[in-house]
Amino acid sequence: MTDFNDESFRDHISTVTKEGKRVWVYPKKQKGRFYTARTILSWFLLAFLFLMPWRKIDGHTFILFNFFERKFILFGLAFGPQDFYLFALGVVAFFVFIVLFTAVFGRIFCGWVCPQTVFMEMVFRKIEYFIEGDAAQQRALDASPWTGEKIFKKTVKQIIFAGIAILIGNTLMTYIVGIDETLLIISQPPSLHLSGFIAIMVFSGIFYFVFSKFREQACTIVCPYGRLQGVLLDPNTIVVAYDNVRGEPRGKFTNEEDRITGDCIDCNLCVAVCPTGIDIRHGTQLECVNCTSCIDACDRIMDKVERPRGLIRYASMNGIKDKIKFSVTPRIILYSVLLVVLLSVLTTLITIRSDIKINILRAPGKIFTEQGDGKVSNLYHIVMVNNTFKDVPVEVKLSNPDAEYKLIGKEISLQPMDILDAEFLVLMPKDKIATTVIPLNVQVYANGILINETKTTFIGPVKK
Ligand code: SF4
Ligand code: SF4
Repeated sequence: MTDFNDESFRDHISTVTKEGKRVWVYPKKQKGRFYTARTILSWFLLAFLFLMPWRKIDGHTFILFNFFERKFILFGLAFGPQDFYLFALGVVAFFVFIVLFTAVFGRIFCGWVCPQTVFMEMVFRKIEYFIEGDAAQQRALDASPWTGEKIFKKTVKQIIFAGIAILIGNTLMTYIVGIDETLLIISQPPSLHLSGFIAIMVFSGIFYFVFSKFREQACTIVCPYGRLQGVLLDPNTIVVAYDNVRGEPRGKFTNEEDRITGDCIDCNLCVAVCPTGIDIRHGTQLECVNCTSCIDACDRIMDKVERPRGLIRYASMNGIKDKIKFSVTPRIILYSVLLVVLLSVLTTLITIRSDIKINILRAPGKIFTEQGDGKVSNLYHIVMVNNTFKDVPVEVKLSNPDAEYKLIGKEISLQPMDILDAEFLVLMPKDKIATTVIPLNVQVYANGILINETKTTFIGPVKK
């Protein structure tokens, strides 16, 4: 009989011995309805990841996170440093979403859409099975001496792993600098794009290390989301769970007539398929990435022993204990309201955001300058942000007929996704200055269309 009060398994992670040595996990090949569904979903996710950098709108990439030049494109919308408030709000909304989602559905993200799990289980693990066979053959191969066959299998596997890691590294680069720049980096001599080349090599090296060696340790040791589970999950959270009420006391399979045990026949298949090497029958654990492999494995066993499926299933602890269905808690309501408010604010801000943002201020310091030709000038500062992918020629006009506009420097033309800082003078004949402070309207036209009107002031000398 299992002692469910014994929590000593939580004192260490399943893939590290008490002496601190790594326990290599050889999960058995999986199959089943959840595995099939995850495989199909992974095709879509991988297609999205690899094809999206090639998708362009008006010659510009669809998604871009160029941290170096502080340019971001999300689904065709350009964002720059001036949109930091949107970014910050988006991050907050994202975290509320994650918290809400986790409080309700546990680590469903990890099992179904996390790139680490998708690549590890749906790409690298499948290649490993193809080359080295199922868990038992892999174990035997690792324990065997270095024969020609072993060297061949291990070499081919590592070459393919490295190739895929390089492909992922290049793809990551396309999300940072765009597909055109990435193609230049990989098609021209490294010396011409040294930093880009080094970045791709570093990314590829990290991916190779993670998927060939580090594997599930990324989820259990490094991932901060995994670490947060302790505070995000509650007894009402839906997780991959073993129904201990139905399964215990576990015992070897017997005929129905002789049966004195629960439904768990202690076959250990749920443990054998687990990619993080845990026994889900202990209860919810930090290492569980909700990959559903144990559900599929146990369902197969239940089919064989003619007992109902779902001994391991998506369920909450309270649901299993009290045999109650999922219920909406005050915490879920609170998070949901917060998320709806944040998303509404974010959507509104993005919708009302203007394509060209303009800010005009009178320059600090000297208030006015006597030009010596009977004119007085004030210096102004104009900052313009182009949130579009087009060149925007800009023209500045003044509403006051006596005021004259004089740009300092060359003509203003906004480059795509550019921030431009310029200065201009406003000149006024001294004899036309009747008051010290004169209201001034500065109008900015783009392609002949008024896009901004700023009310400011012109300061003249004090009348004697
Ligand atoms: S697969 Fe099912 S029956 Fe077998 S040990 Fe796990 S829970 Fe028990
Ligand atoms: S316990 Fe089950 S769901 Fe959790 S990681 Fe292991 S196999 Fe996946």
